[in-house]
Amino acid sequence: MSVSSLLKNKCYVNGKWISAKDRTVFVVINPSTGEIVGEVPDMIEGDTNEAIAAADAAFQTWRQTTAKERCQILHKWHDLILKHKEELAVILTKEMGKPLKQSMLEIDNGASFVDWFAEEARRVCGDVITTPAKGRKLFAFKQPIGVAGMITPWNVPHAMVTRKAGVALAAGCTVVLKPAEDTPFSALALCELGEQAGFPPGVLNVVTCSRQNAAKVGNAICTSPLVAKISFTGSTAVGKILLKTGASTVKKFSLELGGNAPFIVFDSADVDRAVAGLIVCKFRNSGQTCISANRILVQEKMYDSFVEKVVAAMKEQLHVGDGFDAKCTVGPLINQRAVEKVENHIKNALSNGGKLLLGGKRHKLGGTFFEPTLISNATADMLFCTEETFAPMAAIIKFKTEEEATRIANDTRSGLAGYFYSNDHQQIWRVADKINVGILGVNEGALVACVEGPFGGVKESGIGIEGSKYGIEEYLHIKYVCIGGL
Ligand code: NAP
Repeated sequence: MSVSSLLKNKCYVNGKWISAKDRTVFVVINPSTGEIVGEVPDMIEGDTNEAIAAADAAFQTWRQTTAKERCQILHKWHDLILKHKEELAVILTKEMGKPLKQSMLEIDNGASFVDWFAEEARRVCGDVITTPAKGRKLFAFKQPIGVAGMITPWNVPHAMVTRKAGVALAAGCTVVLKPAEDTPFSALALCELGEQAGFPPGVLNVVTCSRQNAAKVGNAICTSPLVAKISFTGSTAVGKILLKTGASTVKKFSLELGGNAPFIVFDSADVDRAVAGLIVCKFRNSGQTCISANRILVQEKMYDSFVEKVVAAMKEQLHVGDGFDAKCTVGPLINQRAVEKVENHIKNALSNGGKLLLGGKRHKLGGTFFEPTLISNATADMLFCTEETFAPMAAIIKFKTEEEATRIANDTRSGLAGYFYSNDHQQIWRVADKINVGILGVNEGALVACVEGPFGGVKESGIGIEGSKYGIEEYLHIKYVCIGGL
């Protein structure tokens, strides 16, 4: 199968490839070259409600399938994803600019969620409960919650779809998903493979729309009484809007929102390990991941040697370029808004005493390419400490004591990922306990969102868990059944 047969230019609703009712479309641009990747339907409320109705109708039969039947279809979907790994990775790199090697890893990661939840579907069990009164039997049934509405971001456009849809479909729910404006093609390609795997019409639906219509589609999903569950990954600001909107029809919510990860290096740490961890954690996906290190804190004795080694590692390992260039490790930023944001963070840091050691400006390749940037003498009151930078900029703060570092780390309304490096065992236990995040890397910067690990944030970084043995519970409700007269 060539790339073009997976590159779909229609939405997938009720088992059909369709246009928007008013025939409008929007174009998707390759952020690396500025070329048009393709165009897709620009849907609004009416189109979305039709997809929801199809998902609701399909739910009535999908929920009656056995876990084994769903497992078999999900396994086929998984196998097809891996069979077409290279084509899917090419689509991903074209629409969001990620280096091809990183896209290939994302396809593997995405497929692993389908594989895992295919199996988890068969392990959903309720309970037989001890009765307090004779003549009665009590049970807890676990049942699929219903139609799940999903909204996904552009930075992980393949794995965010499989991570959400894989588990929902396994649980017996049906799905209406809106991908990001910048990256609809990865989601649509997954529908094509889902159809080949054998999902019945209406079970998996993808509705695309431009940024201008995102609120309309989001509103339709959040206010529909037919939608029982919302799963959203994206910014905290949009997550809050959806939560408020969904309140009108009282839905179950899973929210995977923004991060502001602390990355702490204590004096006792293995400096080389910490530097290697920072490079992957800060610069993977051009710094555009929710678990990217954002506030880098290094203890005073370690500070100079750490900064010196980071300079050397950045010069050696970071190569800005087109994602299809084999040497490229840092692709473009997603759009001009992202470039302006990092420029603003750099300007703020430098005008408040930060020292520019590397980069600091738009890359000579033009477009949205940006130079990997390193700033020393940073302080915790700079702008980058209160907003996710989401770009290849690292600014390093010096601290004196463990108490100071943990206080700064927790001084935020975000609580997604955090990292620290230490070789003092007592300190490891103490700090692991104190840092208020949902995901913690200790002497490990390459925290992958692997399916085995529970992924989710605290505070304003989210509600609920994705992946792991806990993830499927988000798509089930427990029905208490009491049988009397026995
Ligand atoms: P975003 O603006 O919140 O967009 C995410 C999704 O929401 C996109 O599909 C977007 O559509 C849609 N959207 C925007 N406004 C909406 C509205 N009013 N109603 C309904 N949908 C709406 O986030 P982003 O800037 O693209 O993504 C980056 C953010 O996601 C960062 O904060 C990052 O930390 C977070 N993130 C979190 C996780 C996690 O697991 N916690 C993972 C990845 C990313 P359009 O594309 O059309 O705007």
